[in-house]
Amino acid sequence: MIASDRIEEHGIVGAGGAGFPTAVKLAAPVPLVIVNAAECEPLIHKDKELLKHQAGPMLKGLKVAMDRVSAEQAVIGIKNKYRDVMTPLAADLPRGVRVLALTDTYPAGDEFVLVHDVTGRVIPPGGLPRDVGAVVVNVETLVNVGLDHAVTHKYLTVAGAVAEPVTLRVPVGTPIGDVIRAAGGASVPRFAVLIGGVMMARLARDLDEPILKTTGGVVVLPSDHPLIRRHSASQKQIELIGRSACDQCRFCTELCPRYLLGHPIEPHRAMQALGFTGVKDPMIAGTLYCCECNLCSLYSCPEGLDPKSVCASGKPAARERSLTFKGRPEDVRPHALASQRRVPTRRLIGKLGLARYRNAGPWVDVAIQPRRVVLPLKQHAGAPALPTVRAGESVRVGDVVAAPADGALGARIHASVDGVVRDVDDAVVIEEQS
Ligand code: SF4
Ligand code: SF4
Repeated sequence: MIASDRIEEHGIVGAGGAGFPTAVKLAAPVPLVIVNAAECEPLIHKDKELLKHQAGPMLKGLKVAMDRVSAEQAVIGIKNKYRDVMTPLAADLPRGVRVLALTDTYPAGDEFVLVHDVTGRVIPPGGLPRDVGAVVVNVETLVNVGLDHAVTHKYLTVAGAVAEPVTLRVPVGTPIGDVIRAAGGASVPRFAVLIGGVMMARLARDLDEPILKTTGGVVVLPSDHPLIRRHSASQKQIELIGRSACDQCRFCTELCPRYLLGHPIEPHRAMQALGFTGVKDPMIAGTLYCCECNLCSLYSCPEGLDPKSVCASGKPAARERSLTFKGRPEDVRPHALASQRRVPTRRLIGKLGLARYRNAGPWVDVAIQPRRVVLPLKQHAGAPALPTVRAGESVRVGDVVAAPADGALGARIHASVDGVVRDVDDAVVIEEQS
């Protein structure tokens, strides 16, 4: 069997973001594979720990990916501060593979920023890395390819207000409450949980929310932490305050990583539009090209406004109208001051009020055995998978419990624990057999 068939069979999707099916991502030939080990979300250490403890499977997965896209070159982009990981890794690399030290800035892991750092070329607005001859794959995705078995477990860092920040391997579908307990529990009495990190995070609904194939981190913070308040604001509040308080200082635009790459995005203009028409013509402000890194909202804006949410709110209208970039890609050039305007992670952590939390997440090899896992049918880009099991059926770890419809973009989902299927509605729910 060829490697690409197994990637599909194993339900492997991008573990670092939107969960794009890996077999599809690796379908087009490109000369260069870029391994995204930039991991720029503050407090999250999962990819670094994987490179320390799973470098073998990662390199095996990288070889498969390179074969799949017929690439002869690969670059592993990792932050320059992680010498302890970089040096041993660089000492034993296969031919055609090299390590590149990246600045410790946010958002170094944004695909467009990373591709520019590695190749010196700018992906055109609305484009893909393959437009400049590259494909970007996350470390954990490659580990999953190299391990060559179904994606039943997830690696993630548990950080913030917990007794012991850790990086764990847990069954997909484990409730977040269980992973917080595995980190020694919350260290404050009243807390809320951000899923995915702190910058591109979302607020967890409750402690039963499941860990997905794409969850890279869980950050616990006191309920009254400013970041929790920011992530809780409604779109209506954001727009009302933005309309009255934006003084058009442009800081959001001047530090925007996509603007600095030369993309036609100007969040201050999206804010200006709020006071007049609303963000009705998204292409004016280029909101379609916003990567939702949140830098403008959580770092740049001196008024504490939320240009990111305003930009994001303009995207559906742009997509509905199938708006695309009409300029010439060769005219898209980085800003002359782009490299000086990068935001150091340390400064970002201070601004976010996170300096009091331990910025570490050492790997801890503990077996977490949840009594119940919830496996949403949509935890990947594309259409929800269709259940292949029924309530009452017994399943074992690795059994397929859902699969994409014929021809649909999606990924298989596998049982992550042994047990009995209790529900198959929006999610396959498996409980321990009593
Ligand atoms: S940084 Fe804030 S105040 Fe300044 S233009 Fe942007 S949204 Fe307005
Ligand atoms: S979230 Fe803000 S800083 Fe980030 S790309 Fe969008 S507009 Fe730019």
